[in-house]
Amino acid sequence: MKKTAGVLLFIVLVLMLVACNNSVHQEEYEEPIEQGESMSANYDNSFSDALIEDNAISPEPAEEQEEEPVIETEVFAGLNSSERYGDITHIVVHFISNVIENRTNPYILADIQRIFRDYGVSAHYIIDRDGTIHLAVDESRVAFHAGAGTLAGFPEYENNLNQHSIGIELLGIGTQEEMSLYVTAAEYDALAPDLIGFTDAQYEALNWLLHDILARHPMIQPNRTHIIGHSEYSPTKNDPGALFEWERLDFMNR
Ligand SMILES: [Zn+2]
Repeated sequence: MKKTAGVLLFIVLVLMLVACNNSVHQEEYEEPIEQGESMSANYDNSFSDALIEDNAISPEPAEEQEEEPVIETEVFAGLNSSERYGDITHIVVHFISNVIENRTNPYILADIQRIFRDYGVSAHYIIDRDGTIHLAVDESRVAFHAGAGTLAGFPEYENNLNQHSIGIELLGIGTQEEMSLYVTAAEYDALAPDLIGFTDAQYEALNWLLHDILARHPMIQPNRTHIIGHSEYSPTKNDPGALFEWERLDFMNR
């Protein structure tokens, strides 16, 4: 009798272990399934176990296969710059276009370069509509992008943010109100819709560039105190404007 009871107890223990292991196994895989919107939307939960193995691991390898973008250095080479003596602690995001002079094709790179030269300004990086990243000024030097302004929490940066920042220009056009200094309401309304705002390729390139810069400059903290829009420093500026979707930047979602 004792032996039978012992065997029964053993079987019960094994069953409990198996049940326990199953529930752990499920918890581990439930999360990726929920995140894959299309999967959870299209399939009944009761079938999810069968689908787990095939789908839970697919998103990551695809991401890893993405190629690093090539950074162009020719087009904007040699823009205005000066010696840097300050620590790099900030990134400033801008938009620029040639919409004043060319409302049908405001993103011709030669025109953008001429604007930089005519106004004596520059930026370290310019991101084209197709996501091409152009390096114009080496990060070790100061580019002239932020101008005069003040920054909350950094009183010593008054009119001196260029010394402490990396400037990134996105080729883009803001809202009608933001552009009212440059074009009339009628001219704005006549713009092709795909010229307005920013492209998916630009967000993708900007995310890659931010990862790259942050890895090399630990004093730039990945938050909105250290990664700012031009208008947050200079009240006379309105870029990158209301159409710029900060929430699409990876550092915002950590
Ligand atoms: Zn700006």
